[in-house]
Amino acid sequence: MQQIQGTTKLLGVIGYPVEHSLSPLMHNAAIAHLNLDYVYLPFPIAPSDLSVAIGGFGAIGLVGFNITIPHKQAIMPLLSEISPVAQAVGAVNTVWRKSGGWYGTNTDVAGFIAPLQDDNRDWTQCIAVILGNGGAARAVVAGCRAACFGEIHVVGRSPQKLAEFKSSCYSPLQIHPWEKLPEILRSASLLVNTTPIGMYPHVDESPVSAEVMAKLPEGAIAYDLIYNPNPTLFLEQAQAVGARAIDGLEMLIQQGGAALQMWLEQPVPVDIMRQSLWQKLGRT
Ligand code: NAP
Repeated sequence: MQQIQGTTKLLGVIGYPVEHSLSPLMHNAAIAHLNLDYVYLPFPIAPSDLSVAIGGFGAIGLVGFNITIPHKQAIMPLLSEISPVAQAVGAVNTVWRKSGGWYGTNTDVAGFIAPLQDDNRDWTQCIAVILGNGGAARAVVAGCRAACFGEIHVVGRSPQKLAEFKSSCYSPLQIHPWEKLPEILRSASLLVNTTPIGMYPHVDESPVSAEVMAKLPEGAIAYDLIYNPNPTLFLEQAQAVGARAIDGLEMLIQQGGAALQMWLEQPVPVDIMRQSLWQKLGRT
């Protein structure tokens, strides 16, 4: 941790609750490595206090902040400018001060795509299947669109929420009830779990049965946004049928790296951010 002094500049994350957030750990690790005069703090802010808090952040000269549940959409009317990517997702996760106003963007999209870009693959003939139609699914759809997937299919349990999701997404996509999953999976190159099913402590749950997972073609990618446990049952099932597994930790690290780079306006040590979280989560 850097020494806090009169000149120290403030960054942070707002959420409610925010105690569980790993962001302070990874951001402060990068700040310390760069030997910069910044500190990144958690700010628990109740929904009813959001606009007062944002006004206060302006008054105290906060440089920028991340946004987590439940504020990612509620903050949008309080900002003076929103990037096209955040508009496409319909949610903001990163904010910084610009010309006296607050500018918002969404780095979850870049964070999601980052592990998929490792092998420089052409996805234009490939099919992405996304489980769930909540907030994270919106960033995943935008990411699949940015990665140029040929088809994007979203599977959900509520026909009404699925229809609303489709109409509010800028990306062309097809929606399906859960029962259609076995059929769609047969041609999938990427299967993404954006539901919380399987997250600690419910480690023996998966959004798909082993029988359905067996339809996933060998060599496909199974991507779980959950990072605790590692692997999830979903990823274990996928690996058992020959899929490549990606968990959500790298997305978390990469969205954080992209945010920190915007605030600091310089390259940031993503490897140090990764190392801090791997150490915290006991990964080797
Ligand atoms: P959310 O907005 O609450 O969306 C959750 C989605 O999962 C909804 O579509 C919901 O369906 C569906 N769902 C929940 N329980 C289900 C069940 N039993 N069967 C079928 N569908 C179910 O949450 P979110 O913000 O998108 O987050 C989702 C997950 O992604 C969480 O585990 C979160 O920790 C993770 N996440 C990870 C990262 C990262 O950086 N790695 C970033 C963001 C989120 P309904 O719409 O029908 O309710």
